[in-house]
Amino acid sequence: MRPLVAGNWKMNGLGASLGEIEAVAAAVEASPPAAEVLICPPATLVARATAQAAGRIAIGGQDCHAEPAGAFTGDISAEMLKDAGARYVIVGHSERRHFHGETDEDVNRKALAAWRAGLSAIICVGETETERDAGRAHEIVASQLRGSVPGGADGARAAVAYEPVWAIGTGRTPTEKEIADMHAHIRAELVRGVGPRARDIRILYGGSVKPANAREILALPEVGGALVGGASLKAQDFCEIVGAAAKKT
Ligand code: PEP
Repeated sequence: MRPLVAGNWKMNGLGASLGEIEAVAAAVEASPPAAEVLICPPATLVARATAQAAGRIAIGGQDCHAEPAGAFTGDISAEMLKDAGARYVIVGHSERRHFHGETDEDVNRKALAAWRAGLSAIICVGETETERDAGRAHEIVASQLRGSVPGGADGARAAVAYEPVWAIGTGRTPTEKEIADMHAHIRAELVRGVGPRARDIRILYGGSVKPANAREILALPEVGGALVGGASLKAQDFCEIVGAAAKKT
């Protein structure tokens, strides 16, 4: 399975940041990595980033509305992202769940919208620190998967990103054992929920991935790539993370 290393720029990036897209795309072109490379800039940059990338790396959105069009001021549909050149869209990021009150049901509908538009959905799940401390991490993630991943998910149309909320942007990461345990749990829950085709769904780890820890994390069993926030904003750091991913069987 080819790993996926995806950068989530969040609400960062102006036209001047297209140089970072160019630097990553040029590095990928010069030395094709084992991983598939994706950058999800803010929606304002998706079309320009797609033009800049010129097919050398994939570009994606960070969120989409469940409806294809309509009276939803300020929202962006999956069809609009597709039209701007996106190939992927992140849905259910914990910042969307927390700041915008998105539920598993909302996330499920957004993943279906992504498929309707011909995009692949990166569906995010992950427990809070309180939930982990209470010994409920596995239960919470299983429940998020049941609610957020539509039946019919497969490796071409979906990836799951395990992002423990307490590890996002904090510099803290779970232990290697905790990551491997949770990824095995997610695989088992996916297969239980959507059947054998779930074996091809890449399970990305996200939460304070950086050049210093990427190789160890990406080598863990059932880690099919990474979703990278802060460290994706600088091409050099992001390229080091991309370079740390090896092909997995
Ligand atoms: C993220 O927001 O998806 C993320 C993983 O952020 P960071 O890498 O900065 O922890």
